[in-house]
Order: sequence, then C-alpha cells, then structure tokens
Amino acid sequence: MKAKWALFVSFFLVIVPGYPAAQPVEVLWLGHATTRITSVAGKVIVIDPFLTRNPKTPPEYRDLKAIGKVDLILVTHGHQDHISDLLDLARLTGAKVLANYEFGRNLVALGLLEENNVIAMNRGGMAEPLGRGVKIHMVPADHSSSLDYNILGIRNPDQSASIRQGGGAGVSVGYVIEMENGFKVYHTGDTSAFGDMALIRELHNPDLALVCIGGFFTMGPDEAAYAVRELIKPKAVIPIHYGTFPVLNRTPAEFKKALGSTSVQVLDVAPGQVMRF
Ligand SMILES: [Zn+2]
Repeated sequence: MKAKWALFVSFFLVIVPGYPAAQPVEVLWLGHATTRITSVAGKVIVIDPFLTRNPKTPPEYRDLKAIGKVDLILVTHGHQDHISDLLDLARLTGAKVLANYEFGRNLVALGLLEENNVIAMNRGGMAEPLGRGVKIHMVPADHSSSLDYNILGIRNPDQSASIRQGGGAGVSVGYVIEMENGFKVYHTGDTSAFGDMALIRELHNPDLALVCIGGFFTMGPDEAAYAVRELIKPKAVIPIHYGTFPVLNRTPAEFKKALGSTSVQVLDVAPGQVMRF
C-alpha cells in the first residue's frame, strides 16, 4: 500500500469552533525531524530539511522538487541531520530561512544565502514572515548546535568575521507554529526533557506536538513520555527522530507504553503519511 494517505483527526474538528473544514492544517512528517506544514491559507513551512540523505525519507520525496512550493524553512539547529538540504531547498524554492540569530547571520556572512532571505531571531521571540496570520514562536530546546562546514559547503571558515569571533551556530531551538485558525503545532527540535516545556505549554498551549523519542542524541521514550504527559500536555503527539540511524533505536511502541493511560492521542504515523487537522 502506498504510504501517502490522508487521515483526518477528529479531535480538533470538534474542539475548535469555526474550523474551516475545507482547508485543514496539513502536517506531513518526512522522517527524522523533517516536517512540512501547510497552513489554512496554503502557506508552506518546512522544518529541518534532511531529505536526500535521510534513510527514512519516502522515495517520492528524495527529489527536492517533490516538496513543491515552500514559503518558509525553519531551522532548529545546525547539525547535519537537520540542515543537509537547507541551502538547496532554499535556493530551489526561494523560501525564506528562519533560524537562531548566530546561525542565520552566519549563513549570510558566509555568502550562503542572501540577507533578505534570512530571518535571524532568537528564543522567546515571535515573527510573522508569511504575513499576518501565521505566527512563528521560537522556543528553547536543550541541545547543542554547530556549523557543519562540509554540509554547508564552507571551504574557508576564516572568511567570516562572525565565526572568528565565536558566533558559530548559536543555540538549538524548537518552534511553536500558530496557524490562522489558532491551531498550534509545537516541534520540539532535538532536546532533552526540560522543565520549561511546562512554560511553553503555559504560554502557547499547543494542540499538536512533534516530539523526539529516539534516544541517544535526544529524549528517549521514557523522557519524552514524561515531557508529553506532565509538561507539554498537547491534544495529540507525533513521535519523531527515531529509527533513522542504528543508534536511534527506540520506538513509538516504547513511547506509547511509557505514556500509559492518557488523553493524549499518539499519532504513530509513517513518514510520508499526510495528517490533516
Ligand atoms: Zn537530530
């Protein structure tokens, strides 16, 4: 059976009054952390493009052209499994790239992207680069970051004054994306469980959370289950960032077991499976 099929999730249709049934928010997880989100008005956001070298990318999305129109690319951090197709996808689609301040500024300083195509902001801030209606909240994540010279095609790191001054890649972040109809998606980025996930919930109250569960580099199932059940408390969760490499060997089944009895709906989707809310 073809992996790409549509599933309507009814909880949000019921809960949110005035929900435009003809134009749902579409969430397409493409393996690892890579996610394409299409807003109610058809704005397309891609998070952490890692497609052509990602063993979990569905074959039909290995060609970047298959992603279609992209308006905005969000970067959680600079590790290669999050940005390996960033520059190619940005150049192919003309999408603006939104990232942590240091990472974003260095993309410009290194001549990799044009200044007016980069939004370099920081944690706690909100931007509306798609025009009014879709709000991008940059939130903390507890993880490292770096500038991967090979992946970015940087031959002479010394060309950047910013890097010489230690600007590097800045910090790792997550995002809460607030749609035109109020639906909120929290992408944790790579992270450990941390107490301020409860503050993210207090401030943003996400409906859907995409949460790393693979372990080793991020939360594993037990930590992720605690974070979801006790801190984030979304209506639904999509487990991500597992199974890509042998070391990320934890599973959604372990996550569900650790979560136990809860009202949170676990959407154990396959990469390439379209979800509409
Ligand atoms: Zn990662």
